[in-house]
This record gives sequence, C-alpha cells and structure tokens, in this order.
Amino acid sequence: MQNTLVIIKPNGVRGAIIGEIIARFEKSRLAVSAIRLRTITRAEAEGFYAEHKERGFFGELVDFMTSGPVVLLALRGEKAVEAVRHMNGATNPANALPGTIRFDFAPNTGENVVHSSDSAESAAREIAYWFKADELTEYTPASYVL
Ligand code: UDP
Ligand code: MG
Repeated sequence: MQNTLVIIKPNGVRGAIIGEIIARFEKSRLAVSAIRLRTITRAEAEGFYAEHKERGFFGELVDFMTSGPVVLLALRGEKAVEAVRHMNGATNPANALPGTIRFDFAPNTGENVVHSSDSAESAAREIAYWFKADELTEYTPASYVL
C-alpha cells in the first residue's frame, strides 16, 4: 500500500469537478485518508513548489495556485503514486492519454487541474506539508471487498 498527495487545482474547484475527480480515484480503490478545501497562501505555494523556483513558469504557477480554493487530498491504495500519475495524465494535456483527468479537463500545462506526488518519498514530504499526522485516517472501504 502507498500514500500519495493530490491537489485539485483552482480551476478544478471553479469547474465543479471535485466530485468527478474524487469519484475516479475511489473507483480505482484509492481511499481518501485526508481532505481539506481552502485557498493556500503565496508562501505555502512557493514552499510546496520550491523545486521549481528557478523555472520561468514559477511566478505564474504560484499566481494560479493561489487564485482560488484548492482541494488537498491524501489518498491511500495499491501503487497509489504510479496509479494517480497515470490517472492524471501527462503534465502537458496535449500529451495526455484519453481517459485521463488532464485529457478530459485541462486546457493547458499551466492550468492542468491536478497535482500528484511523483514518488513515495515526495508523497511523504507533501502529505506532511499539508496535514498533521492525526488528520490522516486509514481504513478499507467495504465496497472494495467483492
Ligand atoms: N508547469 C508549467 N509549465 C511547465 C512545466 C510545469 O506551468 O513548463 C506547471 C504545471 O502546472 C505543473 C507544475 O508546474 O503541473 C509542476 O510541474 P511538474 O513538472 O512537477 O509537473 P507535474 O508533476 O504536475 O506533472
Ligand atoms: Mg511534479
């Protein structure tokens, strides 16, 4: 079992597809272990994306991520990191495969609707960035038992 951190970006919240996105994860047996909706601060966005701070798109990325509320989501399931990266699709939605969230909903790279952790190590760091340990709850949904 793995954990991963997903952010439904401001255009996903504005677009009223929170439920659609979470439903896809639940159908793939990824359980929500923590969830919160709020507008993050510039300092929080800059810290979260610190690895990209030298990149030309950094300022626009921070502007976009603080432009409205986001959903912060910790998910737990089999191969959760790789599974969610596949389900989200390529960073540039022009390269995303049909059936992925970014293929279906993302207008461009900068506004690509969803974030997800790129490794188990990133996931641990990113989940701890947004959630306290006692905000995470592990359980196995009954619907997974066939
Ligand atoms: N991004 C961008 N332009 C780029 C590359 C990335 O605006 O050329 C944004 C995009 O929103 C992306 C985020 O920066 O989701 C983080 O980039 P990363 O390469 O980590 O992509 P991801 O892991 O989100 O697929
Ligand atoms: Mg990334």
